[in-house]
Amino acid sequence: MPPPPTNLLRPHSAPYTSGRGLFLTQKVQPGQLVLHVPSPLVAVPDDRHLGSCCSWCLKWDAQGAVGVEKKKGVKVQQVQQQQQEEEKYPDPGIEDIDDDGEGKMELVRCSGCRVVWYCGKECQKYDFTPRRSHSGIHKFECPIYSTLNGPPHNRVLPTSVRVLMKLLLLYNNNKQPPSWWPSILQLESHATKQLSHPQRSEMLPVMAAAAQHYSSSFSSTSTTSSSSELPSELILSIYCRTLVNSFSITTPLPASTTTATTTTTPVEILGTLFDPLLSLFNHSCTPSCLLEFHGREVLVYPLRELIEGEEATIAYVEVDGVGVGERRRELRERWFFDCMCARCKREMEEGMKMGEV
Ligand SMILES: [Zn+2]
Ligand SMILES: [Zn+2]
Ligand SMILES: [Zn+2]
Repeated sequence: MPPPPTNLLRPHSAPYTSGRGLFLTQKVQPGQLVLHVPSPLVAVPDDRHLGSCCSWCLKWDAQGAVGVEKKKGVKVQQVQQQQQEEEKYPDPGIEDIDDDGEGKMELVRCSGCRVVWYCGKECQKYDFTPRRSHSGIHKFECPIYSTLNGPPHNRVLPTSVRVLMKLLLLYNNNKQPPSWWPSILQLESHATKQLSHPQRSEMLPVMAAAAQHYSSSFSSTSTTSSSSELPSELILSIYCRTLVNSFSITTPLPASTTTATTTTTPVEILGTLFDPLLSLFNHSCTPSCLLEFHGREVLVYPLRELIEGEEATIAYVEVDGVGVGERRRELRERWFFDCMCARCKREMEEGMKMGEV
């Protein structure tokens, strides 16, 4: 039996936001593991990387585990040795997984839908076996992808729709309403702001309706809950929640961002990760913790000694050497909140004083 996942955090209402945050249940030292999530609720490669990233473990290409960052700015594990110049699409004919145990990671395609790819039989099995609510759901999405991927459309659903559809399929295929469902509904949605956003307002209801339609059309017969019976407004609000609470899975950041030049290879987003517990981390421009992602496994470490009851925060954006105005603008544009962390308050006060001189 593997040891139970570490969790030295508990949710509680946060002092500087309208929502909740995660707080230490005991004193911790730098380097001590405070949270271990072996498998988040949903983690998917984006459309462009479906053929170059394992759809279960998220290993990317041939070199090993991917580097992933929380949302935009947090530097994390850097295992990938080099970036492939072009996306690699293995021969579509290879559809039987054959592990040779050596050499490069070969991705092979699901023969059912011909959309998702895996690095080996083990990953395919996990993605097909819904042992727990967190386990694979591809068994149920495979016929949907297969239908859409066939003529005349030959379509693959956008990444954010695939994330929402996985949630709805997990909901549909639980015998009772899943335990994580209420924790999603408690997350901040910023629905009003998102639905009045000029670039988002029209597409959001269309995307949410598509996920509801497809997830309902192939539901398990043994299901006792069905996303088709959920109000479309609720599905839309859940979609909004996933959009502002997801993590971006990226290729590794440059080894040193402080020496980055204009010629640095840009970080490439590989996919999206959503988990209601991880979504409770609040942002701070002086974060107390760092998230590391090893494939789909998530580890959280403190950046300094933290006392019992202290909030565990992370940085959603790059904070080193970035001015208060730029940080707050980026947070407002993407996450729809005005950062009022101690550093922002101090720097704004200093800025005002400077302005008065
Ligand atoms: Zn894999
Ligand atoms: Zn499939
Ligand atoms: Zn701040």
